[in-house]
Amino acid sequence: MEKRNLKISIAHLYPKLLNLYGDMGNIITLIKRCEWRGISVEFEQINIGDKISKHDLYFIGGGQDKQQQEVAGELYKNKDFLICERDNNSVFLGICGGYQLFGHYYQPFEGDKLLGISLMDAYTVAGKKRFIGNVTIQTDFLTPSTLVGFENHSGLTYLQGDTIPLGKVTVGNGNNGVDKTEGARYKNVFGTYLHGSLLPKNPNFADYLIELALEKRYGEKFNLSKLDDKIEYETHNSLVGKAY
Ligand code: GLN
Repeated sequence: MEKRNLKISIAHLYPKLLNLYGDMGNIITLIKRCEWRGISVEFEQINIGDKISKHDLYFIGGGQDKQQQEVAGELYKNKDFLICERDNNSVFLGICGGYQLFGHYYQPFEGDKLLGISLMDAYTVAGKKRFIGNVTIQTDFLTPSTLVGFENHSGLTYLQGDTIPLGKVTVGNGNNGVDKTEGARYKNVFGTYLHGSLLPKNPNFADYLIELALEKRYGEKFNLSKLDDKIEYETHNSLVGKAY
């Protein structure tokens, strides 16, 4: 339990459309890991037509091209607001299709280019090959340093400017199957191709995001109390380095 009453607010963006491969599990993990420590959570689902209000952490999952088209227009209407939130150090986590819309655009294999909200300096174009399988990456900011998950995308993402990779691919394809990068980070905006869902078996990253959201809200650094993550890391470690 933390030594004082803490709170964070979390928004789940467009869960009815972008929630592929159990991405909702990321929200459940963030909420439970706060509740287990006595940190209260204000949680809001934002659907098409809803106003997006200020939050400490925003989450958006993945989806097929069709669902991305439905969400892209709605997200774009909120671009300026969300860029302000980024610059106010709000935390963002986007998975796959949601991640692609954090960049400048996503060009699907067929149809028009989807404009992104440019939270990070990146762009995505659909490739001919679909990347499907387990992924392990090495980060330089987490302990343990690994992240594990599952990828299923045809989009090839390229990072530019100050946008850095989330980590280096050791198993799987990652952003584009060529430059050995996976995911992206700019300020407190994180994107990744790792479905799974990601956070239940990567508690190191879940707690990192919660600490950043607390720092954004209270203006000071936090080191969360440890939880009993025996099962989580047994699962994590059983997947590290595994392609199949
Ligand atoms: N439609 C995008 C692609 O195929 C994203 C897919 C996803 O979110 N899993 O690259």
